[in-house]
Amino acid sequence: MSIASMAPDYIRSIMAYQPGKPISELAREMGLAESSIVKLASNENPLGMSPAARDAARDAIGDVARYPDGGAFALKSALCNKFGLAPEQIVVGNGSNDILELVSQAFLAPGLSAVYSQHAFAVYPLATHARGARGIEVPARNFGHDLAAMLAAIRPQTRVVFVANPNNPTGTFVPGGELEAFISAVPKHVLVVLDEAYTEYLAPEQRYDAMAWVGRYPNLLVSRTFSKAYGLAGLRVGYAVTHPEVADLMNRVRQPFNVTSVGLAAAEAALGDEEFIARSAEINRRGMVQLTQAFAELGLEWIPSFGNFVTFKVGDAIGINQALLKQGVIVRPIAAYGMPHWLRVSIGLPEENARFIAALRRALS
Ligand SMILES: *Cc1c(COP(=O)(O)O)cnc(C)c1O
Repeated sequence: MSIASMAPDYIRSIMAYQPGKPISELAREMGLAESSIVKLASNENPLGMSPAARDAARDAIGDVARYPDGGAFALKSALCNKFGLAPEQIVVGNGSNDILELVSQAFLAPGLSAVYSQHAFAVYPLATHARGARGIEVPARNFGHDLAAMLAAIRPQTRVVFVANPNNPTGTFVPGGELEAFISAVPKHVLVVLDEAYTEYLAPEQRYDAMAWVGRYPNLLVSRTFSKAYGLAGLRVGYAVTHPEVADLMNRVRQPFNVTSVGLAAAEAALGDEEFIARSAEINRRGMVQLTQAFAELGLEWIPSFGNFVTFKVGDAIGINQALLKQGVIVRPIAAYGMPHWLRVSIGLPEENARFIAALRRALS
């Protein structure tokens, strides 16, 4: 009998999240210089972070002997000003991953269930199973959320339904009208977690205002992050906007100091740099054209994406991935998402995209 066998079955059956391979690891494995490696595996911002965020982070370093403001007063104030919210509606997390965990801690337990889509973000099943709750995975439609089927899958014991819009890793998008119709139809005993990690990349005509819906639907939570367009993935800051009663529950189970002082300062500054976000979205838009044109030339199928990444079909994903790694290019295999013949590539700078395209062409030939 091992000590590990004492853990609940629902913990022992969890498969750990597989992150994108770090640059330092590939450099070690292949004997490559780190500077020669192109990492397009984790949907990070290829521009880095906003200069304003960099300055704020540098200033905040001076105070790290002090605990951070666990109430995140300054960041919440900035969010309230920007989106017209009240601080009681906001929960700040150690990345939006923390938000997803806090939701599961507050609402899920053995005997209860959460609904999510096939090919949706891997943290939904992880956070669900870590609470001993049942995950109800609904088959995708055209690689995206089948909202009608998700609605039909809700059971009396269901407490949470997760929706990523745009979705990762497939990049699919549900228009705002359809999404609001879904939210209004979800039973009031079920919390809808609307994960908007990539919302900053949407074109103006695709935008909808989920923050405004929070006032209308007490069972809605909108999750956002500073990890993607804001370029602060390494600092771990995300937040939820929801009904004050939901926020209150999440704050009770939250670690008192879950976000670092440096992260809070950088996020607040980043929020004010709209020019940086606009530039990031523009470089993403152009990179999307560059990559999808290359897929078309190479005769590869891809899923039209609304995020800062594209998922494309290569057949032998393990072999192609290995051939890319040998050339110092890191993309993301997504077999764990039930897509063993596909790879996901994040959109980089034009020269990084070109490196990837050249490496892919060689890998395929
Ligand atoms: C990247 C991502 C997140 C969270 O990232 P954090 O760094 O934890 O904020 C959440 N949801 C989706 C769909 C993502 O792709």
